[in-house]
Amino acid sequence: MATIETINPTTGESIGSVPDMEDAQVRQAVQRARAAFRIWGRLDFGERREQMLRVRDLMLDRTDDVVARVCDETGKTPFEALFTELFITADLIDFYARHGDKTLRPQRVNSGPMRLTKRSFKVYEPLGVVAVISPWNYPFSLTMSPVVSALFAGNTVVLKPSEVTPLVGVLVGELFDKGCDYPDVVQVVTGGGGAGSALIGAGVEKVCFTGSVATGKKVMAKAAETLTPVTLELGGKDPMIVLDDADIERAASGAVWGAFSNSGQTCIAIERAYVESGVYDEFVDKVVAKTRAIRQGTSNDDVGSMTFPPQLELVERHLADAVDKGAKVLTGGRRRKDLGDMWFEPTVLVDVDHSMAIMRDETFGPVLPIVKVADEAEALRLANDSPYGLSSSVWTKSDDRGRRVAGQLEAGNVCVNDCLISYGVSGLPFGGAKESGVGRTHGIEGLTDMCRVKAVVEDRFGLKRELQWYPVPPGGYGLLKRVTKLLYRRGAANKLRALLKG
Ligand code: NAD
Repeated sequence: MATIETINPTTGESIGSVPDMEDAQVRQAVQRARAAFRIWGRLDFGERREQMLRVRDLMLDRTDDVVARVCDETGKTPFEALFTELFITADLIDFYARHGDKTLRPQRVNSGPMRLTKRSFKVYEPLGVVAVISPWNYPFSLTMSPVVSALFAGNTVVLKPSEVTPLVGVLVGELFDKGCDYPDVVQVVTGGGGAGSALIGAGVEKVCFTGSVATGKKVMAKAAETLTPVTLELGGKDPMIVLDDADIERAASGAVWGAFSNSGQTCIAIERAYVESGVYDEFVDKVVAKTRAIRQGTSNDDVGSMTFPPQLELVERHLADAVDKGAKVLTGGRRRKDLGDMWFEPTVLVDVDHSMAIMRDETFGPVLPIVKVADEAEALRLANDSPYGLSSSVWTKSDDRGRRVAGQLEAGNVCVNDCLISYGVSGLPFGGAKESGVGRTHGIEGLTDMCRVKAVVEDRFGLKRELQWYPVPPGGYGLLKRVTKLLYRRGAANKLRALLKG
């Protein structure tokens, strides 16, 4: 069988290989997950919670292994891997362990005009087998997040990790194999787009995809063939708006972290900054100084290498296009050949405009273009001038201005005087507006999105018939007309008239 080799981007050396699985193996994995679902799906929430906490215990016991595996396959720094991959996952499990039971319990719903004779409930049921297709930029947390949500809700999972970071996916499978008493609840299939596409067509009940917009559209089209529901977490071109009353020291530090963490390979990275003219010079000076102070390396450093060679080439193409059209590089702009092939300097760019690819398309690299704007209205117009709408941020000392701008940003997530961190609040739903995605992960919504909501109505008294049943009673039309108007006319006088005259 064909195999896929995985490379450590910081050394260029092979660190292993995985099978490039064919359709038949993908289907077998779905069958195993379906057999496991027959048991897992019937467990009560308390038992599933216990199993998930055991898996988390194992994950925490193996913290250094998880971090090392992530760093080996992505080139990110250990601190970054620990925080953005493991810590965030541990907290999401915590949130669902605390709130999942109440969320998934049957909920009583008022039966409206039938409330005297009916009892109504919303009942959350698992869907079955959920396909998780994940990307390479946060290969552990962006895999664990949908896997954990699906399992808490009672589903089993077939996971297809990115072919760029498959060994992290294999490790996720190992954690569930060893940490969970119920076998086969997470199946891992390895391969590229072909295996992902085969998985969508293998009879799963839901697809949770995290990746690019282009692939997300293919995933949705393929899922449409079987009307399989999808959650799509896609790309972004996230804007930052700095207003003239902002704390510029904090905004500049935030910009540097938000743009360059994980070498800019973050779906919610700051990819564009719009700064009011009164504070523009001060902001740019501080951002440049802080960017120059960033330490790149693989140990106790700030920023690691890039992960995927074609991504680095795209960054260079975006930069060349921008410079060609008049942009000015204030710092960075080149590879760090002294460190290896996959290192790129954190780069700050000015004199940019929306005719440049770097302001319109996802760059997904360590580049921060900054634009001077006249006022809040111009900042908002430019920030919203994008097909993407994943995350965004606004920086101001005024709560009113912060909330006003946040309310007008066309994005699924907004931070005020911070950036990226909304993803770290496990109780908040995460997802995109516009072409950045469909559906939500995290929060209560991330759990209920993994369920089929069944509507249940129970009759209370068992009378021989209901009014609307056959035969239609004599004068039934006139009676129903009176009742309809009595219930829904506004004002007591109107109701009385309806009762008397129909
Ligand atoms: P990608 O779209 O290239 O690949 C993602 C996954 O899809 C991989 O596992 C890949 O093998 C699989 N795939 C490829 N073709 C497929 C097909 N036809 N059918 C089914 N599966 C297929 O994305 P990537 O390069 O791995 O990740 C980077 C992208 O992901 C960026 O655009 C980034 O913004 C986005 N992203 C979004 C979020 C979010 O939460 N919104 C988070 C991280 C990354």
